[in-house]
This record gives sequence, C-alpha cells and structure tokens, in this order.
Amino acid sequence: MSGREQSDVIVVGAGAAGLAAAAALAGAGKSVTVLERKPYVGGRACSYEHPALHEIVDSQHVLLGCCTNLIELCEQSGSADKIRWYDKQTFLEPGGRSSTISASGLPAPFHFAPSFLSMSMLGWKDKLGMARGLIEFFRGYPAEDNESIEQWLKRTRQTELSIRHFWNPILMATLNDRVAHCSTRYAGKVFHELFIKSSTGGRLGIPTVPLSEFYMAAARLIESCGGTLQLRASVEAITQEQNGRWRVNVADTSYIADSIILALPFEQTQKLLPAVRLNEQYAGIALNTRDELELKMARQVHSPFTSILLWFDREISDLDHAWLLDTTIEWFFHKSRIRKYAPEKGSYVELVIAGSRTQLSMTRDEILTGALNELQSFFPEVKRAKLIKSGVLKEARATFSVVPGLDRFRPAQTTKWPGFYLAGDWTATEWPSTMEGAVRSGRLAAGAVMGDQRRFVAAETPASGLMRWPGVR
Ligand SMILES: Cc1cc2nc3c(=O)[nH]c(=O)nc-3n(C[C@H](O)[C@H](O)[C@H](O)COP(=O)(O)OP(=O)(O)OC[C@H]3O[C@@H](n4cnc5c(N)ncnc54)[C@H](O)[C@@H]3O)c2cc1C
Repeated sequence: MSGREQSDVIVVGAGAAGLAAAAALAGAGKSVTVLERKPYVGGRACSYEHPALHEIVDSQHVLLGCCTNLIELCEQSGSADKIRWYDKQTFLEPGGRSSTISASGLPAPFHFAPSFLSMSMLGWKDKLGMARGLIEFFRGYPAEDNESIEQWLKRTRQTELSIRHFWNPILMATLNDRVAHCSTRYAGKVFHELFIKSSTGGRLGIPTVPLSEFYMAAARLIESCGGTLQLRASVEAITQEQNGRWRVNVADTSYIADSIILALPFEQTQKLLPAVRLNEQYAGIALNTRDELELKMARQVHSPFTSILLWFDREISDLDHAWLLDTTIEWFFHKSRIRKYAPEKGSYVELVIAGSRTQLSMTRDEILTGALNELQSFFPEVKRAKLIKSGVLKEARATFSVVPGLDRFRPAQTTKWPGFYLAGDWTATEWPSTMEGAVRSGRLAAGAVMGDQRRFVAAETPASGLMRWPGVR
C-alpha cells in the first residue's frame, strides 16, 4: 500500500445520490472522499463518447418542477442555467393531429382544466372519467402501496382511450413500467404533484448539456469545499477496523473514514454487501443486518429503457419534444433544438421507449427500422430527410419498478452498523426511480451522518392557488 487517505466520510458512487450526499457533507464542513469506478460522473444519468458513433451520447433525462432537491443541488452547484424549462407539452397522434397541455391563469387545481377540455385526443366521456379519477388524488396519494394502478384504472372505470392517450403515457414516462407493475401510491403521487397541487410542479425541465457535464458541476462544488473525487476507483471490499473506522482499498491506496455511504444501485449493493467485514464488536449484528438487507434487495425489480439516437441532414420538425401516441415510441426529443444547435446542422433526435422489455431481445436493426417507420407517421419530413447516423442504447437495468408492496422492502439510509449508510434511488425516499429520488436519498444519508436526517432535505413544492387553503387539501 503506497497511500493512506483519511477523511470524515467516504462516499462510494458518483451518481446523483453520491454527489448529493458528498455535496451536502462537504458544504457542512466534513472532509469527504468520493470513489467512483467509471471515468466520469453521473452514474445512470451519464454521458460518454460512443466508440462507434464518435459522439458524446446520453439517454434522455428530464426533471419536473416538483424535483425540489435536484433543482436545489443544481442551483448550489451552478448548473441550474443548464436546464431548459417547458410549460407546454404536445401530444401527437399518428397522422400529426396534436393536443397540447399547458397551465392557464386559473388557480390550482384548475390550472390545466382549459387544456384538458380542449384536447382533441380525448372525448367527453374520457375526460369526465379522468376528472373523476384525478379527484381521488386531490388531497394527496394513498399511504398504502398494495394496489396496482392497473387495478385502480379498472376500479375508477377509466376508458380505453384515456388509458392509451393519457394515463399510460404519463405513467410510463414517470414510473418507467407497465401499469400492472406500478402501485397506485406512486402513480397518485405523480398525478397529485404534476396536475393538482400547484401550477409549477408539472413543468418539464430538460438538461441542455450532456449529462456527465451537467453533473460535473456538483463534483466541482464538492472539490471547492475541500472534498476529493477519485474516478476509476472501483470498491471491491470494505473493512471496519478495530477502532470502528471504515477502510476501503483501491489500487495501492487505502481510504479510511469514520463513516461510509454506499450510493449504489441495489444490484451493486447486493454484490458489495458480502464483502463488508465488520470488527468483532459488531460481528453479532452483522449477520442479521446482512440477511435483512439481502431480503429487501431480493424484492427489487429492474425495468429497462431504450433510446434511439438519430442524426438527420435537415430539421424534421419545429417541436423541441412531443409525446407520441398509439406507437411503440413514447417520447420524441429534438436534442439539436433543445441544445440550440444551428438548424443548418440538421436534426439530432432521441426517441424513447420506456419499460422496453420487448426491445431487450430485438436487434439494433429491428428496433431502428420500426422506430423510423413510426416516426414518419408523425413527421412527414423524415421521408425526405437523409439519416446520417444512428445508435440504439439499451439499458436493461435503467430503473427499479415501484411494484405494489415494495415500500416495506426499501431500506432506510441508516443501517444497524455504526457509521455505515446506504443511499441510491431505490432506498426509502417516497419517490420512484428518478434523479430526484436519488438526490433525496443522498441528502437523507448525509443528514443521518450528521445526526439529523432531514437537515439537507429541501422543502416540497408549495401548494398554490386554491390548494393552499387547508380546507381544500
Ligand atoms: C436510460 C435511463 C433514462 C432515465 N430517465 C430518467 C429521467 O428522465 N428522469 C429521472 O429523474 N430519472 C431517470 N432515470 C433514472 C435515474 O437515472 C436514476 O434514478 C438515478 O440516476 C439513480 O442515481 P443513483 O445515484 O441512485 O445511482 P447510479 O446513477 O446508478 O449511481 C451509482 C454510481 O455508483 C458507481 N459504482 C457502482 N459500483 C461501484 C463500485 N463498486 N465502486 C465505485 N463505484 C461504483 C456507478 O458507476 C455509478 O456511477 C433514467 C435512467 C436511465 C438508465
């Protein structure tokens, strides 16, 4: 061992959770070391140079107005101006008919009412059913997570068209899985926060720079507060020393700290957990805790995500983004417009297929051919445009699914092992698998290290309009 680095806290993983934890702790005066096995930050929300395309690529990530912790982290680290906010969303049907949704001047919860009433993609019967359904989330969302949203859609007699043109697209985009796999608790949270509670919670934010560049701002914030970020540092084992401190060996350096936060996805935590060695004093509680955590992790399920990247020789649409209805592709992102590239450079587009289990076994060409055919029915210019290059990114382990009954199996950030904490979107945050959930988990873990778990957690989006009245909520 040639080096021995001492700090107050080691954070393993530089995804949104790890960066948020480290930024909070470094800002509070703790010395922090972040160890990340990849050569870049951002974790699942990362960008990298694609070896065949020779382009910096990423899978589209969006945030919403209600992501208060992520927004606050961006403000603190100086990347908030790298988010473009959209107040209007467009839903396209094959053939090009469009419906839009945007907040009106009416007070919440009626701010979207004029848009809903004028949407041509839905009929009166569909809209009445939707209004009846949304009323269930007026005061919030269920405390229990045992009902699936599929059961809820049946129970509240939602029409087939409203499921196809509204409920399904919104749920796939926010929860990244089919309705049978998602609990009403999390779906209700989405509908309450986005459509009811305030007129700002549903604003759509899209990073305008590649994701690792976006998250690098948080890494710089950590370093400016005296923290250290070590890339290409894969943690394979963790040892608790006799004095209770934690030690991690990476290459020829030994990192030692009072506390350690594992900010990893559940499957990586599952891998590393057997390699955590506790000192004799805690050996008794070691087994129980390990068993309990392993049981919880065994209940987590992945849901995949597929991105299709297309570079055309001309602009194929003047929209920045759109929901595509009645098709395999769920979302269209016009990255060249979002990032303000010169229109003469053509269109750089990303098509998104959420919860893409079927695509996992399809070839790149099959996915690409299907996507291009579908795209033509929304944007006729695609037929005339030349496709310069294309790529397909499949993420088999993109997110965890908020399956009914999952809450009992999402572990707290504090464990029974003194100084040993967990973070990551899958831990108990009351959020689905999102960057906001990850940032919350990191901040909760950081707070736990400081002895005050909620110390770094940002306030929720305030209720607005009529929703501010206590009698209404
Ligand atoms: C394709 C795709 C699209 C998505 N779209 C959205 C979206 O639009 N909006 C949204 O909010 N969320 C979206 N998500 C989900 C979001 O990316 C995640 O919820 C979030 O980034 C999880 O962050 P995390 O820090 O918990 O975990 P991760 O991002 O997985 O970070 C864990 C980090 O730990 C590192 N690591 C793992 N093992 C080790 C080890 N042994 N030693 C050192 N380092 C290690 C990893 O390299 C990684 O950097 C999407 C995810 C994917 C994959």
